[in-house]
Amino acid sequence: MTDSQRWLQRTRQTWKVTIYLVGLVGFGGVLTYCLSLSPESVGWTILATAGGMLSFVWLAVSVRCPECGARVAWFILRTAPANQWRTRLTNLTDCPRCESTRADTLFRAFQDF
Ligand SMILES: [Zn+2]
Repeated sequence: MTDSQRWLQRTRQTWKVTIYLVGLVGFGGVLTYCLSLSPESVGWTILATAGGMLSFVWLAVSVRCPECGARVAWFILRTAPANQWRTRLTNLTDCPRCESTRADTLFRAFQDF
């Protein structure tokens, strides 16, 4: 599969997944560091856990279909098995709700013209 076939690439939303990954790795690193410290770091541990959860919320809310407005990442998170959702999201070729492709849209626009 080429990058131009991927729905995330075509809709220019890969940067949203990158922010999610940076957040997850960053907060995961802070969490790992906090857990290696003494019990006084409970506040930081809670903060890092909340940050990691916020990264998931960001991904679920921000990745949307420009055609139908569906929250595509949220749909994938809910329906795909836990060990497959990320692969399924990055390999999407169409929106799971409206199954629109940019090529279809251009074709329809050409027909209307
Ligand atoms: Zn859609």
